[in-house]
Amino acid sequence: MCTAILFIIMKYVDAHCHLNVGQTLTQDVDIAITNAAQVSEWQKIITLAQNNKIWGAIGVHPWYISNLADGWTENMQCMLAKNPELMVGEIGLDKNYPDMQTQIFVFQEQLNIANDMKRIAHVHCVGAWDKILATISKIQPYAIVFHAFDASPDIIQQLLRYNSYFSFGTAVCNPNRTRVHNALRSMPRNRILSESDSDNPATVIGVVQKMSEILSVPLADMINTIYNNTVELLKHGQTA
Ligand SMILES: [Zn+2]
Repeated sequence: MCTAILFIIMKYVDAHCHLNVGQTLTQDVDIAITNAAQVSEWQKIITLAQNNKIWGAIGVHPWYISNLADGWTENMQCMLAKNPELMVGEIGLDKNYPDMQTQIFVFQEQLNIANDMKRIAHVHCVGAWDKILATISKIQPYAIVFHAFDASPDIIQQLLRYNSYFSFGTAVCNPNRTRVHNALRSMPRNRILSESDSDNPATVIGVVQKMSEILSVPLADMINTIYNNTVELLKHGQTA
């Protein structure tokens, strides 16, 4: 008699993290996308992304738009050109931080670069969906990931006109975050990603478990869906 032993390989994904120099992934996490917040981190991201399970994104976060040195956009284009799998992030808009006009300018510059070079853009948005929608309706992003996603069904419908993916983090574990739970429920399944938004990608294990409960799907199916969505997303980064 032959006994088949079934191994279930758990391939968790952290679609938005901020790793430290020299960090590697724990066994359960198979793909991580690490984002820069400011120019000083770009070289670190390129080094981290040499690990075959870690992908990198370079960008300027809306919290760090002041004092950008002349030539920062050329520097970004140059680094992206030398690293064909590198993405653009973390970029975006945040109503709780100053100088929205400059935030919009810096966001548009980076989204244009991402489009010109056919790279995925990883976006942060707090309280500025009207401005994000105004920008992407003009620029028509090549592929875009909205991280720590939290928006109403009306916004979701408008974002789905573009090549959008939506990443959910620890907010799904908070029972009071009903808008996040509703967003997850109303989202097309092939657009859902998971994230830690931290230097601890293993956080996604609890996040994905909660997502499977909210959507009433088996955990193994939830893990597979997110893994397959991420593989599809990353194909966009391989055409440059
Ligand atoms: Zn982040």
